[in-house]
Amino acid sequence: MIDVKQFSALQKKSKSSFASQRQMMKKVMKGQTVLCSICQQPLYLSTPEDEGTSGIRCKKGCTDIHLDFV
Ligand SMILES: [Zn+2]
Repeated sequence: MIDVKQFSALQKKSKSSFASQRQMMKKVMKGQTVLCSICQQPLYLSTPEDEGTSGIRCKKGCTDIHLDFV
């Protein structure tokens, strides 16, 4: 049995983190500096040419968000 309360809490959590990821992407794409929440290094936009996929990541790789829509 799935605990419904737990399930909806999980959904809320993933929704809000998706929203904050989108906010972060927008900032990076505008050229604003956004720091990785883990290592505090600036995030940068990677392109398929140099990384194999489009995404936003930090040098250490603790932030590694793939962009599907580019
Ligand atoms: Zn990092």
